[in-house]
Amino acid sequence: MKNIKLSTKHLEKLDESLYSYQNSSPLIKPKLVSINKKLAKKLGFTNEQIDSKEFIEFINGSYIANGSNTYANAYGGHQFGYQVLSLGDGRALNLGKIGDQHIQLKGSGITPYSRDGDGRAVLRSSIREYLVSEAMYGLNIPTTRAMAIIDSSTRVYRNYDVETASIVLRTSSSWIRFGSFEFAYNSKNPKENLEKLADFVIDESYPHLKDIQNRYEELYFGIVDRTIELIVLWQSVGFMHGVMNTDNMSIAGLTIDYGPYAFMEEFDKGFICNLSDKEGRYSFENQPFIAQWNLYVLAKTFSPIANEEILESYNDQFIGRFKQSYFELMANKLGLVDYEYHKDNNLITKLFKAMEDDNVDYTSFFYGLSWNTLDLEGKNINAWLGEYHQRLQQESISQEERLDKMKKINPKYVLRNYMLQDAIDAAEKDDFTLVNDFLEIAQNPFGEHPEYEYYTKPKPEWEPLRCSCSS
Ligand code: AMP
Ligand code: MG
Repeated sequence: MKNIKLSTKHLEKLDESLYSYQNSSPLIKPKLVSINKKLAKKLGFTNEQIDSKEFIEFINGSYIANGSNTYANAYGGHQFGYQVLSLGDGRALNLGKIGDQHIQLKGSGITPYSRDGDGRAVLRSSIREYLVSEAMYGLNIPTTRAMAIIDSSTRVYRNYDVETASIVLRTSSSWIRFGSFEFAYNSKNPKENLEKLADFVIDESYPHLKDIQNRYEELYFGIVDRTIELIVLWQSVGFMHGVMNTDNMSIAGLTIDYGPYAFMEEFDKGFICNLSDKEGRYSFENQPFIAQWNLYVLAKTFSPIANEEILESYNDQFIGRFKQSYFELMANKLGLVDYEYHKDNNLITKLFKAMEDDNVDYTSFFYGLSWNTLDLEGKNINAWLGEYHQRLQQESISQEERLDKMKKINPKYVLRNYMLQDAIDAAEKDDFTLVNDFLEIAQNPFGEHPEYEYYTKPKPEWEPLRCSCSS
């Protein structure tokens, strides 16, 4: 792997309190579960390297590439509304950057931030993270990505089970979280550390702000803007993150740290995908409000370097702006090009109600609408369809043009939890076919994939599968 060079030069710009050098603890008998060749090639790995023994060692953290100097990041956060001063990469290790991408191993052993954890990640949650990051990428939603996953003979203990330890190699243009700013804010030199951190973030993720006045204020505005865009996209595909703690919120507006996430199946706006979330703080309909809440926490941490009141009033507009773009995107999903905010929002709101009343599957509804193949029984949804077809009379484009547009934004596939569970069950018996096939589907969710048609619908004996935080 001679041509693979990693760089940790960026650390010179980050205060030393924000990271710790740490070696990996490689897994025993690592074996490859899946490689995302498209991403590997993009990063500069050749076919020969991908097939080499060093490649698995690289993912296992036992092959140290040129220029690599491994470290874990410190951060704080608000978990389920409560402040935790000291969190950090408890099981992730950064190897350095290739180009503008940070290369990170998740599950490679304990770090100074592991607290009571073992620094490991089990196979099931690693498969979930590996596949969904590529699914979000395939759906054109800002996200970290995943290049490979290995399993091993190393054992880990979760609840009452014995499981095997895995590692996912993740990449991202930034790993800075809202919680990183909380950490700097609570440090001994908040002003200095925050300025350094904000400049670091501008350098990596908002380079257009580099030389402008009030750049910290503008940075905050940029983070609000990107967060709005991200949550609009999540809601539009029915994505639920499940653990929107401030330490899981990316400063660059990416989806990060996938845990008990789910995609909406039979529509239920109050759906809670995380079994550990007893009160539904992170339910589907709460996501925009929680994002805004998290941004208020972030505004407070900016107070030593910017005018907090100005930041807060910018964030006050979050929900109004969110609604505007969300309804516009939903109108696009319905193929309405001559969209009128108030009138059509009413139609869209009625759709949600009808879907909920008749237990309509979210993804296959929009897909069926785009291909003119809907055949639903529910009284409410059919009444709504009648209203929708009337509304279409006022559209200035032809049906063909409309369906063409809709096909481009309404996917056939999302990663349903039972689908992931099938891949996990097989992988736990050493059969990685589904993981690899689903990677292909995840990256091309608008494609046909006729052999997997079965997964375009909710499971016949439908009962939503929920996950907990334990992973
Ligand atoms: P999460 O909610 O999964 O993002 O994790 C919250 C915090 O707990 C992060 O700081 C993680 O690094 C840490 N953590 C989670 N699982 C483990 C583990 N098995 N060992 C060490 N730290 C962990
Ligand atoms: Mg996390």
